[in-house]
Amino acid sequence: MPAGIVRVRRMSRVVVVGGGFGGTATAARLAKLGHRVTVVERRGRLGGAVGFVERDGFRWDAGPTATALPAVLRDLFRKSGRPLERELELVPVDPLREHRFPDGTRLALPSGGRAGQLDAVEAALGGRLGRVWVDYVHGFAETWDLLRRSYLEHPWSREHADPRAVATLRSRASLQREAARVLPDERLRELALFPARLDGQDPRRTPAWAGMVAYVEQSFGLWTVPGGLGALAAAMGRRLAERRVDVLLGTAVRDLRLRAGRVVGVDTDAGPLDAEEVVCAVDPATLPALARHARRSTPAPPPSVSHLGLVGDVPGLAAEVVLHGDPMLVVRTGGRAPEGAAAWTVLARGAVAEDVVATLARRGIDVRGRVEVRVDRAPLAQTQALAGSPYGVLWRGRGTVDRKLAGPPYDGLHLAGAHAAAGAGLPFVGLSAAVVAARIGPA
Ligand SMILES: Cc1cc2nc3c(=O)[nH]c(=O)nc-3n(C[C@H](O)[C@H](O)[C@H](O)COP(=O)(O)OP(=O)(O)OC[C@H]3O[C@@H](n4cnc5c(N)ncnc54)[C@H](O)[C@@H]3O)c2cc1C
Repeated sequence: MPAGIVRVRRMSRVVVVGGGFGGTATAARLAKLGHRVTVVERRGRLGGAVGFVERDGFRWDAGPTATALPAVLRDLFRKSGRPLERELELVPVDPLREHRFPDGTRLALPSGGRAGQLDAVEAALGGRLGRVWVDYVHGFAETWDLLRRSYLEHPWSREHADPRAVATLRSRASLQREAARVLPDERLRELALFPARLDGQDPRRTPAWAGMVAYVEQSFGLWTVPGGLGALAAAMGRRLAERRVDVLLGTAVRDLRLRAGRVVGVDTDAGPLDAEEVVCAVDPATLPALARHARRSTPAPPPSVSHLGLVGDVPGLAAEVVLHGDPMLVVRTGGRAPEGAAAWTVLARGAVAEDVVATLARRGIDVRGRVEVRVDRAPLAQTQALAGSPYGVLWRGRGTVDRKLAGPPYDGLHLAGAHAAAGAGLPFVGLSAAVVAARIGPA
């Protein structure tokens, strides 16, 4: 049996704490493996950060609008019942996004391979920068392959991991240092650091290997669901119903129940629940029994989010436009709107000193006077609504990696979701669910 796998050779009662994408993905997999699964979710709906915000005929994705690595979703749906195609239509996003730099340069970065990105970067930034960029991205091919096999897709075991994967994870190299070393152009460095910055990370303390996101996006593209990726929340709910997972909505887990160093269930605000296996798919720092183990972790804050319902003459933009600078703004244009209107979401990272619509106008996207409906969601309001950050923890160098690799502190406990995963976002969170299912194994 591969190292790190706890074979549970009988049907177990499993309680999954948290009904976000991490919790629901783990629950669906475990139910298909024959376990009796209960998901406990404190809010009135499943999905966590995934879902919709609706107002006055406008509808915006509350959280994710696109996902890299569609294989993670496909594998989840195939391994928990019917294939994804029977539930959701997944379509490619191309270009991945348009980058607008403070010097006025614009770069629409295409999906689907090196050649397209080489040409686009060459045309937009000039010189030999296209070659420099694709070489930088391709430098992560081996990292991706190593970490995928040793860490992302399998329960971690230092003894059995490829020593090169161990060395990669133990490296002190930061993403910022690596980008500065390899990329001679400020705009390319902005491009390289963008995914970490969007996730609320400080690139100086983010491990260099996290740069492999650029490789994953280039190789496998970004994918979305027409009408909004928020539809994934309802699809997960249907999958749990099909697999006869018990879902307790509006019920918060207060703490783990422990006996002799082993988890034997959870205490909820509706009473105790017994379980042989418990999956924590929330911020562990919020559960008293885990608070000590998570005390050196700091949540990565969500961005400021403004959902805009726009009417009248609105500029046509790519699905995602990144306005580099401070604050960095990310405009996502794919919301659903009444005829003749548009639904945009603006994410802001950094020093937000004025209204985001005014900043947009200063940066060349002027929708002042066009905003008919607006919903603002401050970072604190988001973490309060979800009782934790959907972006997981802040990278603080090598210590953060060590803590993530250390695994759960009690027998019978498993960790999934953004706080346990190698990073935030649906691909990493979905992979963390697959790893927990592999650890517990079939009934
Ligand atoms: C604005 C925004 C945009 C994003 N854009 C993208 C994107 O484009 N692509 C992408 O891949 N990712 C994106 N992400 C990140 C992605 O959404 C998250 O990383 C992922 O959904 C996290 O899933 P999770 O299950 O770990 O956590 P969550 O979604 O936070 O779910 C945790 C759940 O647990 C519940 N809970 C918490 N405590 C308890 C308790 N004690 N008892 C019971 N229930 C509890 C919460 O109510 C919540 O439902 C975005 C996130 C945000 C906020």
